[in-house]
Amino acid sequence: MSALLVQLEAIVGPRGILSGVDVASRSCDPFDHVPPASAAILRPASTEELSRIVALCHAAGQPLVMHGGRTGVAGGALAGADELVISLERMARVIAVDPVGGTLTVEAGATIAAVQAAAAEHGLLYPIDLGSKGSATVGGTISTNAGGNRVIRWGMTRHNVLGLEAVLADGTVVSALNTFLKNNTGYDLKQMFIGSEGTLGIVAQAVLRLVPAPSSQNLALVSLRSYDDVLALLGRARQMQHLSAFEVMWQDYYGFVSGHDPTRRPLAPDAPFTVLIETMGQDEAADSKAFENCLAQAHEAGLILDAVMASSGKQIADLWRVREGSEVLVRHMSPFLSFDISVDIRRADDFVEATRAALKERFGTCRMVSFGHLADSNIHIGVHIGPDTLTRATQIEACVYGLVARFGGALTAEHGIGMTKRDFLPQHVTPTALATMRRLRDALDPDRLLNRSVLF
Ligand SMILES: Cc1cc2nc3c(=O)[nH]c(=O)nc-3n(C[C@H](O)[C@H](O)[C@H](O)COP(=O)(O)OP(=O)(O)OC[C@H]3O[C@@H](n4cnc5c(N)ncnc54)[C@H](O)[C@@H]3O)c2cc1C
Repeated sequence: MSALLVQLEAIVGPRGILSGVDVASRSCDPFDHVPPASAAILRPASTEELSRIVALCHAAGQPLVMHGGRTGVAGGALAGADELVISLERMARVIAVDPVGGTLTVEAGATIAAVQAAAAEHGLLYPIDLGSKGSATVGGTISTNAGGNRVIRWGMTRHNVLGLEAVLADGTVVSALNTFLKNNTGYDLKQMFIGSEGTLGIVAQAVLRLVPAPSSQNLALVSLRSYDDVLALLGRARQMQHLSAFEVMWQDYYGFVSGHDPTRRPLAPDAPFTVLIETMGQDEAADSKAFENCLAQAHEAGLILDAVMASSGKQIADLWRVREGSEVLVRHMSPFLSFDISVDIRRADDFVEATRAALKERFGTCRMVSFGHLADSNIHIGVHIGPDTLTRATQIEACVYGLVARFGGALTAEHGIGMTKRDFLPQHVTPTALATMRRLRDALDPDRLLNRSVLF
């Protein structure tokens, strides 16, 4: 290993390699301090350097783990003692913004916040929006096909990437930096890398699709008495052309977060459901009118118990803070396990209740919180069964994922398989789908050098 490190340093220079305390002080996990066990973190400053170090590691049979912003919650960035880490933090340049073509070309280590700031200078928006956008990177979000808060309006990461450049396990650079909306010239290789969790190649650069920055934003938090009312409200909200978020919080989540943090309690905490609805558009007067009409009609139909509407940028941020209360969960519910599943929207409440009942029956006491991007069929669930929650993780996961399968849902909606869900993957895809994934991986990385413990 030490001879290899000397050769690697010769490529990336002294600034391009971290060791000792600089490695130990990093975490591979956003919520717990889990440092890489690796001897070094390699920090290439260009695609060329990246390609050369990967080729060298390939020749030496050296396994690698990629790091973006390390905000991933599926354990995909965890690194063992015999693995080296590659971080793209020195490859974070916004290379070009093209307001005419509506594209932004960027190195993969740039954060989503930096991309959005660069787009905003041109009146444009990169619409992938996550609570972690200050740290999450272009490469990490592409590799996990991140979703986030505005998927209902602009889609997942997959729908917002036009092209990319990736480095394969042997160091080959695959440049597919397409800038066109329409390009059917052969296989669309970028799609292979998006969502592949760093197992097929290392994303080095990307061409992102930009949309006009919205000039109007309407936001309300409403409380409802039943899940049928939530579905009825969603049906009405979907009629609005510019619906950009429809986030549902079950009482277990809203009551818990607002109970521990009164600054997150704009409505009484006891309603069965609290929903955040948002539109983003270009015509302030018309958008506000459509939004207010929708809520007024829902109120007249008896769907809404209570509501607050944001009337300033600060109030918008305050209402979003209610929904993005994961720090409250970390502070007051730890240790807990989090689940990120998709299930038929019409059956989501049945799923939540079935999960709660199954966990109570199996483990006795159990705290569960449920919330999420319901309009995208995506629910997040947090589960705490006591101090032994993490030691009994496999049993809790088997219980929850068994129900996901029974409800015909998806094992992960947006966070990915990583290492944490790897053992459950075979029960959630068909044998031929899994075999095809293996063939693809074997074709590109037969020695399993890239993120070898991720996915399967
Ligand atoms: C507060 C908070 C809110 C979040 N909200 C959301 C949300 O709404 N929606 C959502 O989808 N996720 C969310 N996440 C999860 C996380 O932010 C995403 O998974 C994000 O895409 C990870 O990006 P990253 O740069 O931090 O990647 P990392 O965590 O560093 O890595 C994630 C995976 O990608 C691989 N990888 C990293 N960079 C590259 C690269 N250049 N090439 C190939 N593989 C690479 C890593 O090896 C790892 O397997 C949230 C996380 C937090 C902490």
